[in-house]
Amino acid sequence: MPILSARKVCKQYGAGPVQVQALLDVDLDVATGEFIAIMGPSGCGKSTLLQVLGAIDTPTTGQVLLDSQDLGGLSDTARSLIRRRRIGFVFQKINLLPTLSAAENVALPLRIDGLARRAALPRAKAALEQVGLAHRADHFPHEMSGGEQQRAAIARALLIHPAVIFADEPTGALDSSNAQRIIELLRTCADGGQTIVMVTHDANLARRADRIVVMSDGRIVDGAPADESSATFSPAEEGR
Ligand code: ADP
Repeated sequence: MPILSARKVCKQYGAGPVQVQALLDVDLDVATGEFIAIMGPSGCGKSTLLQVLGAIDTPTTGQVLLDSQDLGGLSDTARSLIRRRRIGFVFQKINLLPTLSAAENVALPLRIDGLARRAALPRAKAALEQVGLAHRADHFPHEMSGGEQQRAAIARALLIHPAVIFADEPTGALDSSNAQRIIELLRTCADGGQTIVMVTHDANLARRADRIVVMSDGRIVDGAPADESSATFSPAEEGR
């Protein structure tokens, strides 16, 4: 039983002459604990697919099922609860709040959920320890490297033990050794039973996933296991 499924998902932006068909009949099943990498040239629909799968956006037609539940049948409140309780997001742009320490940033989802500071902070510190950043708990974002900031953002996503982690170019702003470290962190999450859906340009990093899903013009055109995939999208191919 897949934890996450897309059934004939289409997504259109705009209408009339400016209409863009970003996703076209996308079918996808992701198993619990599976780590998938989504690749493909710029504009092929990768981020749109991630947002639709992650309940940030809704498909124009088709269904997205999480835990066999059709997200389209839920109220906005129920969907936002799923986003807060079952899903974690990591983006290329590291969005830590500059006036909060690393631990306070990581604790934020719990604080928003109404948990007291003294209960939230120890859990945030434990999450920071999980990503090798216990020593940075009281540091502010500007006192941390880009790689450390992204690890803190991942700690924040991990805090609620989400069933599915969506990562959109999580290593896009990082050098290769920090990028490698982030991927290994995601790999460890998948090995521990969490499901990872990651968009990346980097074929070397994508190889640490279990499966590489290749998109082109809004469709999935390949979905081979990572060790058999011939996907080779690189930033140099972007914009061609
Ligand atoms: P990728 O992540 O592969 O670069 P996107 O999912 O961002 O691709 O975009 C897919 C297509 O949808 C592109 O043609 C893009 O210009 C278009 N698109 C994305 N977001 C919007 C939006 N909010 N409004 C209109 N068009 C959009």
